[in-house]
Amino acid sequence: METVKAPTVPGGKIALVTGASKGIGAAIARRLAHDGFTLWVNYHRDHTAAQSVRADILAAGGECQLLSFDVSDAEQCRSVLLPLIEQYGPPEVLVNNAGFASDSVIAMMQLEDWNRVLAVHLGGFFNVTSSVIAAMLRCKHGRIINIASTSGQTGVAGQVNYSAAKAGLIGATRSLAVELGRRNIRVNAVAPGFIATDMIAGLPLENISATIPLRRVGQPEEVAAVVSFLASDESSYITGQVIGVNGGIFTG
Ligand code: NAP
Repeated sequence: METVKAPTVPGGKIALVTGASKGIGAAIARRLAHDGFTLWVNYHRDHTAAQSVRADILAAGGECQLLSFDVSDAEQCRSVLLPLIEQYGPPEVLVNNAGFASDSVIAMMQLEDWNRVLAVHLGGFFNVTSSVIAAMLRCKHGRIINIASTSGQTGVAGQVNYSAAKAGLIGATRSLAVELGRRNIRVNAVAPGFIATDMIAGLPLENISATIPLRRVGQPEEVAAVVSFLASDESSYITGQVIGVNGGIFTG
């Protein structure tokens, strides 16, 4: 576990984005920094990519702290986040984004593929959210944004584990929004479709694009724009919702 410190404005509004060394999380981190948040950028293994996100944010005049920990490890989450919260207060915005896919048809799926995907997506949501929530509740103000997936809404062959995790995350979003509404904490999910990141790099994108109403895959920045809106006061009456960013894929 490595923590690289950058100057953090005490009392400045903080956004914590998990899985932000690359892809959608990195775009969200850059966007929220542009919106004026001090960024706590979590990632797991890719130190070089995380350093590059931090460099971009600092170069644009923002503040950024890198936090390397595995969101599926409850003890790591607490041991990194609780001292930071003690020092700087809780993040005003938490984006639960960290994730990966481990696809195979159910007949070939190993227990490890099932357990690991649920541990990172659902366990990670719980571990990080439960680490920040007590302090967020004391502030009586916060936004939690969970990155779900079209796969959790429609179902995709070969993604039983991933779809279950993302559908679970949508259920958790709805319950948490009901639980925290009266405490002025809004909880929403963003459900991306096919977004151009490492996660889908091996897929036949031309064929996939032909099935999408907008006839293209999305860009991480197009997801980040919706997260920015949900993190802002512009979305002050929106909670418990799932917003699709999927080029028009029908989700029912
Ligand atoms: P990506 O480019 O592969 O990036 C994944 C990020 O998650 C990396 O920063 C990675 O960190 C981090 N991560 C993975 N496991 C982690 C763990 N155990 N603890 C902490 N960080 C961890 O993926 P992406 O496409 O941006 O996906 C981001 C989120 O969007 C995921 O939740 C994914 O399910 C969701 N999503 C993606 C798509 C899509 O088409 N791309 C569509 C729908 C939903 P390191 O690399 O540093 O290890």
